[in-house]
Amino acid sequence: MTTPALRAALLAWYDANARDLPWRAGPGAARADPYRVWLSEVMLQQTTVPHATPYFLSFTRRWPTVSDLAAEADGEVMAAWAGLGYYARARNLLACARAVAAEHGGVFPDTEAGLRALPGVGAYTAAAVAAIAFDREANVVDGNVERVMARLFAVEAPLPDAKPELKRLAADLVTADRPGDWAQALMDLGATICRPKAPLCERCPVSGFCAAFARGDAESFPRRTKKADRPRRFGVAYLLTRDDEVALVRRPPKGLLGGMLGLPTSEWRGRPWTDDEAVEAAPVSARWHDAGEIKHVFTHFSLTLRVFRAEGAMAAEWTRRDGLAALPSVFLKAARKGLG
Ligand code: SF4
Repeated sequence: MTTPALRAALLAWYDANARDLPWRAGPGAARADPYRVWLSEVMLQQTTVPHATPYFLSFTRRWPTVSDLAAEADGEVMAAWAGLGYYARARNLLACARAVAAEHGGVFPDTEAGLRALPGVGAYTAAAVAAIAFDREANVVDGNVERVMARLFAVEAPLPDAKPELKRLAADLVTADRPGDWAQALMDLGATICRPKAPLCERCPVSGFCAAFARGDAESFPRRTKKADRPRRFGVAYLLTRDDEVALVRRPPKGLLGGMLGLPTSEWRGRPWTDDEAVEAAPVSARWHDAGEIKHVFTHFSLTLRVFRAEGAMAAEWTRRDGLAALPSVFLKAARKGLG
């Protein structure tokens, strides 16, 4: 039968080639710490392993347990999250940590259903923590696993419609034997061998079971329906300086980058800003001059931000230039552009 042989081949490969990641316990080892697994999975949902790793290390140094994180002030955690993007996730992170601390005595629930009931924990994260930290028989399916399934079984239906089918195919491969290692083996295969572009099929431990490989067109899977372009938005960021300091404002708690410090900006709208409009929308009147523009891609739109700079005064959180590194990346880019 294909399934046991495929599983055995991939697990044997994982035993020899598992990535050494700071949140992992390693193949066949004692269970990993659920706090570290949960934190890493939340971080990795929006960024790559190399980008997330320093954040993971600094979070776990500062807050070694979920109860330490839960006890921290919102602003400290939001500032530490800056650069990881998508701040709603940081707010959910805190809500979840506080629920684990307050309602579960600082101990994560050990079942998929129990984890899923925590605030901000979606189906994917619940499955990943259940499998990796508690060795539960959970089906852990993210974009990487979808890609591997689409190729192994040469699924012709395009994404996103194919998602339920890919999930079912992945579920058929999950068994009670080493479910945590299985989930991580699939993740590692997707990340290092069955890559989105130029998959390394000749080094793949499951190429003998792979329908796309047999057809010779692995990279054409998963099929996709043509994506509409991201909408574009335009705004102006204002870099007001006073000696060595820059004026920052705190954004409203709800919405994009909610609660974060940033440069003052105009509204972000569907058409570009003229010089006159930009000066008119400035937070204070000053001798504003054009300092260039930056582009930034958010999940749902791409933003072109003109940067206007002036010397002046306003009610703001004045911050030294060398303290700007903790700003969300869109504002850091704009500040760097403005400061030249
Ligand atoms: Fe992916 Fe190629 Fe392996 Fe198939 S043979 S699973 S396409 S790396």
